[in-house]
Amino acid sequence: MRESAPNLPDLPEGPGLRRFEADAAFDAGGLVSAPVSLLVEVAATGRAVALAVGTPGEVSRHPGASSARVVGLAGSVILPGLVNAHTHLDLTHLGPRPHDPEEGFVAWVERVRAGRRQEDDGIAESVRQGVGLCLAGGTVAVGDIAGAPGGRPTVAALRALREGPLAGVSFVEFFAAGALRDRALGRLDVFLEEHAGELAAGSLVRAGLQPHAPNTVEPAGYEHAVALARRYGLALCTHLAETVEEREFIAGARGPQRALLERVGAWEDRLLGVFGRGLHPIDHLAPILERAPFLVAHVNDCPDGARLSVLARAGVSVAYCPRASAYFGAPGHFGAHRYREMMDAGINVCLGTDSIVNLPSEAADGSRGGMSVLDEMRLLVERDGVDARTALAMGTTNGARALGLDEAGFLLGAGRRLAGLVAVPVGRDRQAPTPTLETAILGGGPPRLLLIGK
Ligand SMILES: [Zn+2]
Repeated sequence: MRESAPNLPDLPEGPGLRRFEADAAFDAGGLVSAPVSLLVEVAATGRAVALAVGTPGEVSRHPGASSARVVGLAGSVILPGLVNAHTHLDLTHLGPRPHDPEEGFVAWVERVRAGRRQEDDGIAESVRQGVGLCLAGGTVAVGDIAGAPGGRPTVAALRALREGPLAGVSFVEFFAAGALRDRALGRLDVFLEEHAGELAAGSLVRAGLQPHAPNTVEPAGYEHAVALARRYGLALCTHLAETVEEREFIAGARGPQRALLERVGAWEDRLLGVFGRGLHPIDHLAPILERAPFLVAHVNDCPDGARLSVLARAGVSVAYCPRASAYFGAPGHFGAHRYREMMDAGINVCLGTDSIVNLPSEAADGSRGGMSVLDEMRLLVERDGVDARTALAMGTTNGARALGLDEAGFLLGAGRRLAGLVAVPVGRDRQAPTPTLETAILGGGPPRLLLIGK
């Protein structure tokens, strides 16, 4: 029988040696040790290096072990810091909101457009709030989409992200279709020219570009993004194959996405030669994806092996957002997500939460794990019976690879520079004193961040 999860002790701050003692530790490679002791040196710069990892007896033999501050975590398991590869922290102020998929995606987008903040101060505050909710759930790295309200790119989200301890990429988003295309691309050019130094400066948070989606950015806009990414050394991300509305628009140049372009004054008849060629969104974008390493978000709509092969050939990473997919009713439209087949085909699939708007109400509550990647992993294990180790890889090393971070920082071995450490309280089970990773994912309490490395 499991007793209630223990309260975690206060954590030491500042530089020095720490020794974390827990029931077990797991990483994407599987069980690291049970019980486990992790001796970590934290430098004044915030850099954290694992000096010794193993059973308490093994780690005690390390010369630094006796002088380390001990953090006792009985009843918990330790995991590497988690990676949220696709989120929109500038929407955090909107909070979780219910949605009826029958209403359609465009109605939802219009509500978010109307509610999103336009001013830099408000955007920065929303991102800071989001950073807090990421840290609350043990996330140490993010792929964050920095929206361009009213078509105006801004560095506000990147700056706010760089103020905090998270690593990752801030992808500046843009729309570029029809009559608004050239002006949008011109604004982007000016923005990048103006902020080139600042964008290139960060080591912990890099800058990236996000052409929003195939239905709002013409192929010429994507071509332009690829060229800009090369010139300024930027990472690339885009939404892809997310909704039925996108599929309808790319194939037939009709439906609610066309109506949206008409409403904002972007529609031009020449777009009938750009869209409406009967192509699936993946085929439509394939020539672009083959030219540069893209992180593509969602890919709920991947109807067959041929499209899967297109993605594999292009070498994309896929950020699958399981709870967001369910929220928008994607499985009902497209069937179960093909993330397992994607991984079998060699595609790097990682996890994202998407924005807080599409998450359940507890995502706004830090004490319940906030915007938790562990909750995404739980859905895969619980609903799909995914192997717990695969789920952990998707939420750690795969996400790191997708964001261009050092994957080694998400593995718990001696000598490794750690991106972070997370404790998941599982309680103590007298029948099975060694908790499994599956127990921690399925039945563990909200994760708590033990350490975040720089
Ligand atoms: Zn998104």
